[in-house]
Amino acid sequence: MRVLVMLDGTLADPDAPHLRVDDLGLIRGDGVFETVLVVDGAPRELGPHLDRLARSARMLDLPEPDRAAWERVTRVVIDAWPEPGEMALKLVYTRGPEFGDGTPTGFALGLPLSPKALRNRESGVSAVTLARGFDPDIVERAPWLLLGAKTLSYAVNMAAMRHAEARGADEVIFFAADDSVLEGPTSTAVLVNGRTLRTPPPSSGILPGTTQGALFRAADRAGWTTKVEPFSRAELARGDGLFLASSVRKITRVHTLDGIALPDSGALGAELNALYESEY
Ligand code: PLP
Repeated sequence: MRVLVMLDGTLADPDAPHLRVDDLGLIRGDGVFETVLVVDGAPRELGPHLDRLARSARMLDLPEPDRAAWERVTRVVIDAWPEPGEMALKLVYTRGPEFGDGTPTGFALGLPLSPKALRNRESGVSAVTLARGFDPDIVERAPWLLLGAKTLSYAVNMAAMRHAEARGADEVIFFAADDSVLEGPTSTAVLVNGRTLRTPPPSSGILPGTTQGALFRAADRAGWTTKVEPFSRAELARGDGLFLASSVRKITRVHTLDGIALPDSGALGAELNALYESEY
């Protein structure tokens, strides 16, 4: 099941071709995207997702996304989705055809959740730490690297996942040249010590996570301490729990890091997911 809606609000056949072969999103990865979790017709964190889409677009010097149009297409996809339950909603915005009139391409695609994401939510994941190859101080100095933009150029992220899988792991946590923790290829790292949640800052060249944001909001209200601050790779194994937060996978527990079992954080994971769910 897939539901496709073009940015002008028209429903389109997901099995028919719609993109031009010279679309710069396709041939150069020159575009941005978001993946929103929709539960029983309600999009989660749509505001923060659209904020991040606009932030990414600005970093690429794309035309400012038309927020009302994106809200409209989101509604059209949701209304056309035939079943209750969960859906992943992709919002894609590219620079458009290279030999076109300069109009960007935009569409929204509703998809079922992958069985792997659903399995990982339940079972937790094993992860490996991998070098991302930059020092956080490059982020400010080299804005053309687009660190922290959610661009369509995810080939590096997907290659890291395949590298992890070849080593028998499910997931990746990137670290920077100074050994500070960054993020996963499609997730935000959250480290728990006692009643304190920590996540690395977006200024280190990573995405501000909407799921992590929702979790921290709920945790703040429930009296936990939340900190957005750098921490080192060595600290990952010393916490009471290590989690990967993402829209589709929610708060997924890491049970094994670099081949070594972490302390059982099943109960902590259930508590964090309950906190996250309390936002909706
Ligand atoms: N970091 C990266 C690189 C991602 O691709 C994603 C989501 O796909 C995230 C973090 C988590 O963001 P969110 O919680 O908004 O899904």
